[in-house]
Amino acid sequence: MSELNPFKIAQAQLDAAAKIMNLEPAVHELLRWPLREFHVTMPVKMDDGTTRIFHGFRVQYNDARGPTKGGIRFHPEETIDTVRALAAWMTWKTAVVDIPLGGGKGGIICNPKEMSMGELERLSRAYIRAIGHYIGEETDVPAPDVYTTPQIMAWMMDEYAVIRGYNVPGVITGKPLALGGSAGRGDATARGGMYTIREAAKTLGIDMKNATVAVQGYGNAGQFAHRLISEMFGSKVVAVSDSKGGVYCPDGLEFNAVLAWKNEKGTVATYRCCDACTPVSNEELLELKVDILIPAALENQIKKENAGNIKAKIVAELANGPTTPEADEILYKKGVYVIPDFLCNAGGVTVSYFEQVQNAYDFYWTAEEVYQRLDQKMTAAFHAVHETAQKYRVDNRMGAYIVAVARVAEAMKLRGWV
Ligand code: NAD
Repeated sequence: MSELNPFKIAQAQLDAAAKIMNLEPAVHELLRWPLREFHVTMPVKMDDGTTRIFHGFRVQYNDARGPTKGGIRFHPEETIDTVRALAAWMTWKTAVVDIPLGGGKGGIICNPKEMSMGELERLSRAYIRAIGHYIGEETDVPAPDVYTTPQIMAWMMDEYAVIRGYNVPGVITGKPLALGGSAGRGDATARGGMYTIREAAKTLGIDMKNATVAVQGYGNAGQFAHRLISEMFGSKVVAVSDSKGGVYCPDGLEFNAVLAWKNEKGTVATYRCCDACTPVSNEELLELKVDILIPAALENQIKKENAGNIKAKIVAELANGPTTPEADEILYKKGVYVIPDFLCNAGGVTVSYFEQVQNAYDFYWTAEEVYQRLDQKMTAAFHAVHETAQKYRVDNRMGAYIVAVARVAEAMKLRGWV
């Protein structure tokens, strides 16, 4: 299969798991499709006085284990199939970390880099007016994803409060702390990934202190990955990149200096700290000789064309869907240890769930309490996946699918759906 449509990939991954698990046909077919999806069209007043029409989606993939949960992505190339795939992966993600939620996802086709704050606010509010009747703390709870921020979550939460007539902080997660956000949500995705990397390194006998690391993508997931892997383990990050390109430095890249450069210049691509620094393209970064490669940007980065050239011992997928099924096979045969996306990046939704719990109780935890609970969840999920993969003699992605699909299938059966 040479296919880069993320939803076709998500379905193919499920099909492979269904075969190994000998899944009943009705269970399999139900899990191949979203239960519900909404396509919305939104008029938004732009700063120049014109009205622009935007298109958006919300997919509620499966809610057998609890309310659907998943981020909202703002991206010029957003498609319904990307949203469906991400919603499917959210279903497996909440199941693999065993939190009582289902999977959903949202998206708007737009280019936030070309929009003012006022335009972004009006678009965010328009989206909630369009889907507001179909979301809620007991039905479907959005969160941030690519190019959406705590500020955008705050506008969305406020618009929802206007519709309902009272405050409902639990309708959305990833909010600013002042509006009921959780301590530790900002870096939760990367931190959760760190716990899985720590466990993988122990399993493989890799000394994290002497490990070298490359990070693709320098947004929420990538930036915090750079900071935390240096801070928590003392590993050396030798390459980072964003959509404009990357930089490689064999002596190691210092987090605060790179971040300051990114904030000032808008990209890490032009950052230099010494004569040893060289530019590196996103494609080259993936093939660097490092111990740990962290894709933290978008889908379909490791494909059949470059998978054979990956030299990392661990690929920790903070991004969703960075590896195609053909590449998976190549990496598995080469002995690369992949920590699959919906395990590796499940820290974000896990702390989002903690945020919902805190909102419901109106009682807030310290960052240390959040980290400790997150560590427990991620470590347990890592070992469940690792042991299942070993038992079935399959790669870790398939191990993760077997764990997650079995949990969702059990919930559907108990409800009497199948
Ligand atoms: P973000 O908007 O904060 O950052 C995205 C980054 O990717 C930016 O630095 C951008 O420059 C870079 N990028 C875009 N296109 C690229 C390309 N072609 N090559 C290299 N870099 C490119 O987004 P984020 O929240 O960090 O999300 C990144 C990935 O992590 C996505 O796959 C997302 O679904 C996943 N993820 C995020 C969270 C979360 O809590 N933020 C949770 C789980 C998964």
